[in-house]
Amino acid sequence: MNKFDRAGFTLKELSKKYGKYPRTGLKNWKNDWQLLFAVILSARSNDDQINKITLRLFKKYPSIKALADADFESLALDIKSSGFYNAKAKHLQEAARSIIANHSSKVPSKLDQLIKLPGVGRKTANVFQGVIYGRSEGIAVDTHVARMSRRLKLTSKKTAEKIETAIMKLYPKSKYHLINPILFWHGRTICVARKPKCEVCQLNYFCPSSLI
Ligand code: SF4
Repeated sequence: MNKFDRAGFTLKELSKKYGKYPRTGLKNWKNDWQLLFAVILSARSNDDQINKITLRLFKKYPSIKALADADFESLALDIKSSGFYNAKAKHLQEAARSIIANHSSKVPSKLDQLIKLPGVGRKTANVFQGVIYGRSEGIAVDTHVARMSRRLKLTSKKTAEKIETAIMKLYPKSKYHLINPILFWHGRTICVARKPKCEVCQLNYFCPSSLI
């Protein structure tokens, strides 16, 4: 089986199991800016931790203007448990101000506009587009997507940017937004980092890294 076939079978098999799962593990958001800020906060943290933070955060700052005008020290303390909280507080506040000033308080929809916002890289932008619009211009590469792409030998590249470029060639654009969620859920539960559970993995009949 070549890598195009492996990519196709991966999407087909995992969609059966995870197709109806939520496209993100992030909760508590009710609109575009809250989702974007939850995704920014989730960098180098985990969704459960961010869900605890956003439960309080979006009550305390109910509008993007309230967040843009927040006292910086107070905002940093509000998100302290997310890690890298000073940098993240700066990103949230600068992104809020930029969205208000340059986009009439509405989060822009296009990738090239999104990645100009402070704290928003391609991964964040692709996750945001996929969840909000049900499409994305690229594939969000997180630690699970990176690990599984290499184990399935879809690519041997190491950096997120190179992995994204490689796996975008294996899927039609209409499917880009589905790749991150299915690999995220499978990577979190079955193809885990330390000891993948190949014996119960539905990809084990073609995966080049299968241990069985
Ligand atoms: S067979 Fe094993 S290594 Fe391959 S995708 Fe499944 S869990 Fe991961």
